[in-house]
Amino acid sequence: MSRAAYVDGQYLPHRSAAVHIEDRGYQFADGVYEVIAVVGGCLLDEEPHLKRLARSLAELRIPAPMPNAALRIVMREVIRRNGVRDGVVYVQITWGVSPRDHVFPEAARPVLVVTSRHKRPADPRMAADGVAVITIPDLRWQRCDIKSVALLPNVLGKQQARESGAFEAWQVDRDGMVSEGTSTNAWIVTSDATVVTRQADSAILNGVTHLAVLDIVRREGYRFVERPFSVAEAKSAREAFLTSTVVDLLPVVTVDGIAVGNGLPGALSRKLRECYLTHAANTT
Ligand code: PMP
Repeated sequence: MSRAAYVDGQYLPHRSAAVHIEDRGYQFADGVYEVIAVVGGCLLDEEPHLKRLARSLAELRIPAPMPNAALRIVMREVIRRNGVRDGVVYVQITWGVSPRDHVFPEAARPVLVVTSRHKRPADPRMAADGVAVITIPDLRWQRCDIKSVALLPNVLGKQQARESGAFEAWQVDRDGMVSEGTSTNAWIVTSDATVVTRQADSAILNGVTHLAVLDIVRREGYRFVERPFSVAEAKSAREAFLTSTVVDLLPVVTVDGIAVGNGLPGALSRKLRECYLTHAANTT
């Protein structure tokens, strides 16, 4: 089946799908996006993703290109045309095409792009053995709560992680506190078995997986606190893990080469991963 994409009102072959060179997303990164998991043909946690999308649009004052009911139909059609049962759907909305000028365009129309792809089979060793993270300075702006397509520091951070043999880079703010990964949220479990993750302030993206795992933590009755944690705390934590739509929940076993706990995936991380996978499997 050849791939299809939705671009500004049309379903096009993926290989020839394109936007205009004066799209403000291309020139200013003036756009927002969502990545939603497709599980058994259904969209996982669609509501919170659409809610976050609406919020990101409003923060950048980009008009919604269509009502949510229509967007739901487009996403499903793109999934259908690509034959995706397990994968992701990518939604991007930019301010649209207009002569280059920093000020908001008066006449522009937002441009919606929707693509979908099958899930690359995750290396099962990542979940079984855990992953390594490094820490890097958080070089980003002060509105990381907006899911904007401006991802340069995230790209540089992820590249640095890979070149250091790590899976992810945890970004560290000026106070020495971990904000989040470059494409994942960061968590630790302290020696007294308290789950700690940063509160969803403007320093981090309010991850939909983060929200789902917090719900599970609450429901299962684990002790938890939403607050920033330091790099030193992460290194001396009992467990650590990270979450995102794309990777689910992965145990973190080293931070800057220092073993977390006994250097193996923690029991609570494994339990929460199981609960999250059950939550995902129950999507309808
Ligand atoms: N933080 C950042 C910076 C991200 O890019 C992502 C992935 N979009 C996340 C956290 C995780 O968010 P979610 O669980 O909604 O995928």
